[in-house]
Amino acid sequence: MNRLQADSILQKIRARSVRTDSGCLLWQGAKSGSGYGSLSIGGRITSAHRAAWEAAKGPIGDRAMFVLHRCDVRLCVEIDHLFLGTNADNVSDMMRKGRQAFGKNNGSHTRPERRARVFGERNYNAKLSDSQVRAIFHSYWDDGVSMRVLAADHGVSGSAIKKIVSRKTWAHLNCAAATQSTLEDHRADEEQETGGETEERARSAAARVRGPLAERRAPAEDAVLVRPGDV
Ligand SMILES: [Zn+2]
Repeated sequence: MNRLQADSILQKIRARSVRTDSGCLLWQGAKSGSGYGSLSIGGRITSAHRAAWEAAKGPIGDRAMFVLHRCDVRLCVEIDHLFLGTNADNVSDMMRKGRQAFGKNNGSHTRPERRARVFGERNYNAKLSDSQVRAIFHSYWDDGVSMRVLAADHGVSGSAIKKIVSRKTWAHLNCAAATQSTLEDHRADEEQETGGETEERARSAAARVRGPLAERRAPAEDAVLVRPGDV
């Protein structure tokens, strides 16, 4: 990405954002299932705040690094409100801001009757939150982050990651539907912008997602997961 491309990405992002009273620059385009702004750059879907950061500050080589929000507004693309950190930073930041119930406020204390049958993040033993699982699923299928990196970054085993990306566990989250709706948002967005000339690109993006997800049953334990991009 050269300076000119970076500037045009920044312009595109600013043109589609609105300044709020609190100083946030609020993205008005498509949203990902996890509530972040998302946009397509050269046919590749990326989060709006990460794209803004990379266009302003240069590419982030390390895929384990996240662009985090000081302002806690996921749709915000104001560079001054963003900072670079690991997922661990994200989690501790979340704890500090009190978004995660722990101790006596945690669900296992307040709703002990749910312990025996709940699944997902309310499960007493769950290490990952629903939003982390969604992020893992999207990082793997949409952004091409390796299972090894995802495992290291989230402090869980490689086989736990494999189960998430193959939808063996946490299937109730319906990550696939979120991905599909994100793609549809982009298709609508791009058609508005270009009069439909990117339809082919959107179709290939949809095929990319449909491919792995069309398989109704999870792959066998020893199946090798192959993303279309790897072949
Ligand atoms: Zn902000």
